[in-house]
Amino acid sequence: MDCEVENTNLNEIDRLDIQFFDYLYENKPDKKAVPAIEIDRAKEWLELSKTSHKLTNPIIELFKKLKSIKEDFGATPADIGFNRDILMLMAQKHKTTDEHHVSIGGRVMISAEIVKKADARVEEYLKVRKEVAPTGYELWDKMLENKAKIMKSLGMSNSDWDSYGGQIKHAITSAEQLASIIDIPKQLVEDIQRVSHVFRMRISPYYASLIMPNVVNDPVLLQSVPTGDMVDNKGIELEPVASDHSPARLIDQFYPRVLTIKATNMCAMFCTHCLRIAHISSKDWVSSNNTYEEALDYIRKDTNIRDVLITGGDALALSNKKIKYLLDELDKIDHIEIKRLGSRIPIMTPQRVNNELLDICEASNEKKPLRFVTQINSVQELTPVSKEAFKKLNRVTSTILNQAVFLRGINDDKYKMWRLCEELQNSYIRPYYLFNCSFRNPEFAHMRVPVEIGRDIVESMYGNICGDAIPRYLATAGGKIPLHRDNVVRREGNNIILKKPWSGEEVEYPDGDLNEYHQPFSFEKYQK
Ligand SMILES: *Cc1c(COP(=O)(O)O)cnc(C)c1O
Ligand code: SF4
Repeated sequence: MDCEVENTNLNEIDRLDIQFFDYLYENKPDKKAVPAIEIDRAKEWLELSKTSHKLTNPIIELFKKLKSIKEDFGATPADIGFNRDILMLMAQKHKTTDEHHVSIGGRVMISAEIVKKADARVEEYLKVRKEVAPTGYELWDKMLENKAKIMKSLGMSNSDWDSYGGQIKHAITSAEQLASIIDIPKQLVEDIQRVSHVFRMRISPYYASLIMPNVVNDPVLLQSVPTGDMVDNKGIELEPVASDHSPARLIDQFYPRVLTIKATNMCAMFCTHCLRIAHISSKDWVSSNNTYEEALDYIRKDTNIRDVLITGGDALALSNKKIKYLLDELDKIDHIEIKRLGSRIPIMTPQRVNNELLDICEASNEKKPLRFVTQINSVQELTPVSKEAFKKLNRVTSTILNQAVFLRGINDDKYKMWRLCEELQNSYIRPYYLFNCSFRNPEFAHMRVPVEIGRDIVESMYGNICGDAIPRYLATAGGKIPLHRDNVVRREGNNIILKKPWSGEEVEYPDGDLNEYHQPFSFEKYQK
């Protein structure tokens, strides 16, 4: 069916204006006999129109019928025994059926078509999403099989598996260990050995259990197992911009009101695309209390600062005691209004999220809002276990935000990204940022996604998944710089022309009047 044509017809009937009545009642010379069945149908719709209180669909159907009778047989409603006053009454009823004096019936029929058209935009996604981007929930049975195999191979007990300590103690750090739990090509074993001289490998057994064997470029494998590219890529690593923005030890500061404390370089695992890859390559460290005091002192003195992000490495790699100490100290500072903890640990070792940590978060969040910032790049990382951890964290923080990185093969596909953002929400997490992968490190240059491809994917989300599931697209280049495409196409007088990202349709949007804007308004006008 051609919706455009159908809609035009409905629109005309929907208006039910005087022109339409004139058309129906206009007498034409060559009239044909109208079959009784047509007249009966129209009368049935009239009866329903009189009695139906909820919808005006019958009224629409009545007038559609009268219109087709007019078109096919030349007969006016009067010719077939309809009273004009009653028809007028029905038209009136149609127009005033809802409180906005907009006819519901006509809108229902027009809207049904419009909705159907919009549905077409997500039809394929809904059909293929489980295949293109299976979640950790969907793959859970397979993951449990992997777990059994890994536990056996690493000699782990259930209590080892279920504790953070056990996960870290049994972390996979060598190619041989990895080869014993998943089937990897011999060449990769050699490459991992070659690469590990420069970058350490560390995969928690839990995270390793999320790897789907036999999937080439599995998204979890890609994020955790170093490949030959990491040392073979050309180019030299550029200094992180942050090195010029460290006004005190442990502190990075790009902005006047928010800064980060790099409280440790430790992580439960090493990510192959890590921006702080330089930290990984050296030894683990936790700072002395003296160094923390220095950082805190800097924060205490700069009263412009209101938001402090405790990060690393990974904030949850710190002991609960250290986290409590840092949060307590921050809560004591008057000008600090909000805090954040930055951690991927609930994804890599959700076992870390224990009751003691939750109590610490809750107590601090009671004083001043505490947000939790994490990094999840693939729906495969979202499992029943990590969801449980996030659900608990969500109860004791003001919000959980996700900062994903666009990574080739992992999420550089519109359906993979749509699904990631939707499943994050389902897991109590809010998609916050989406980073273009950094240009500074040749180590992961092979994982970069060009900015334009990212823009296409980000735009594809508008109008198709819900607004607060759409992250902001950024580049980090001395601060976070927005990369979104401009949907303001041009200006025509006081109108701006906007483009709908999902259809390309241009819409005229009258802007607020700039002259008016600078005039006194409301209460100002009463001023003497
Ligand atoms: C990311 C970052 C922040 C926080 O930025 P928001 O845009 O507020 O999330 C603050 N300081 C540094 C150094 C950062 O890298
Ligand atoms: S958790 Fe974060 S800091 Fe640690 S290795 Fe991964 S990306 Fe880097």
